[in-house]
Amino acid sequence: MENLLVMKFGGTSMGSAERIRTAADLAAREKQHRPVLVVVSAMSKVTDLLLDAMRHAEAGDRAGLDAHLQTLQDRHLETLRELLPADKQEAAHGGVLSLVADFQRLAQGMLMLNERPARAADEAVSIGERLSALLISAYLESEGIRSLAINAATVIVTDALFGNASPLMEPTREKARRDLLPWLESGVLPVVTGFNGATADGRPTTLGRGGSDFSASILAAVLDAAEVWIWTDVDGIMTADPRLVPEAKVLPEVTYNEAAELAYNGAKVLHPRTLAPLIEREIPVWSKNSFAPEKPGTKIVSHLNGRRGARAVTSTASVALIALEPSAAVVGARLMARALDALGRANIEILALTSSSFRQSFCFLVRQGELSAALESLEAALSLEFAHGYLKPVEVDEDVGLLAVAGEGMRGETGIAGRLFTAISREQVNIIAIAQGSSELTISIVVRRDGLEKAVRAVHGECRLGEE
Ligand code: ASP
Ligand code: MG
Repeated sequence: MENLLVMKFGGTSMGSAERIRTAADLAAREKQHRPVLVVVSAMSKVTDLLLDAMRHAEAGDRAGLDAHLQTLQDRHLETLRELLPADKQEAAHGGVLSLVADFQRLAQGMLMLNERPARAADEAVSIGERLSALLISAYLESEGIRSLAINAATVIVTDALFGNASPLMEPTREKARRDLLPWLESGVLPVVTGFNGATADGRPTTLGRGGSDFSASILAAVLDAAEVWIWTDVDGIMTADPRLVPEAKVLPEVTYNEAAELAYNGAKVLHPRTLAPLIEREIPVWSKNSFAPEKPGTKIVSHLNGRRGARAVTSTASVALIALEPSAAVVGARLMARALDALGRANIEILALTSSSFRQSFCFLVRQGELSAALESLEAALSLEFAHGYLKPVEVDEDVGLLAVAGEGMRGETGIAGRLFTAISREQVNIIAIAQGSSELTISIVVRRDGLEKAVRAVHGECRLGEE
């Protein structure tokens, strides 16, 4: 749809009646001159609350579950009371109660089973988004703007990987065109839940934590939108995390590749999978701050001319390094292939990998949250080798951090790696592993955890990232 603007509001941008009002006003303002589709996250901290409630249910803790249900209901009813005029609250009030009851029904099932079936969990956790969609759409209606809250389970078709599903673009395109376009064409402002979808046969799924950004880009791609605006609580994509580097600056423009590398390596502004659906259609994305909407934010585009060198540095401490080493060179054959295959099947993302070819020993970095699943899948796939001592016991080092420097302009720039290492060593920080993708777009450096922040500052200074 020509001119369509997709706007996504994150948890903090939906965090209170006041924030919801601001979000709705931002959407309404744009809607005066073009069609707008809104995608929303759950109110801040609600997804964590729901997951925690399910943990209590699964553990058989009825009192804990009830307390969480109360908090859930109170938070949304209070917001609603603040948001809507008294004479317009009734329908939304009923809607909130019925969604909370849906969650309760699912959680009670878990309580009875002492188990949390993946599909029920996905249906339950997406109720956070359904509640926030209901609230903002009720507010828009009360302001005289025709709006409709839509559950993405009826629109976004995914595979059946519960908890971390991937979209199936063609069936999603069909449904979105059939179910969303008529509303948009007749001037209604649809508010679609972020984060969730359903399989082709209707089983509820979610797209992974932080997945609402991804929902927005999926919908933008299948509806051929003109732009996507992602509203968060920071001014855009920055040269570094400003909490670590006070001189960090907002980047006015970055490429899809740069933004994806930064997101993947720990920058929190964008969900790592967000950009993929948009690249082919070259749909630009803006990262904007709903607390300071007058600021321009960062524009993410396919190409930038004349940029040299590194653009930004990211870091994350929530990683672990896993090392595998054969006890003799001969048994190493196919070790890496089998290990990677096992990790792939367990859906574990490898953030960096280095190997030495002779002994076939290698080490790779995973997210801390995926560490135990990674170890389990390796133990299972290589159990014989471990049992017979062909492989040394797996070594895990959690006392590490990952730093990544990204920039299209680093391609072919000689000496950049050397400069980074020198700058980091000057701070007496121990470098444990390094990896550079074949695109030469990112250099990933694994350092001792306690040196991570110093290393980030050293790299930021060395590449003069704060100075445009
Ligand atoms: N509410 C979900 C989460 O907290 C999805 C999102 O916010 O993007 O992970
Ligand atoms: Mg987010």
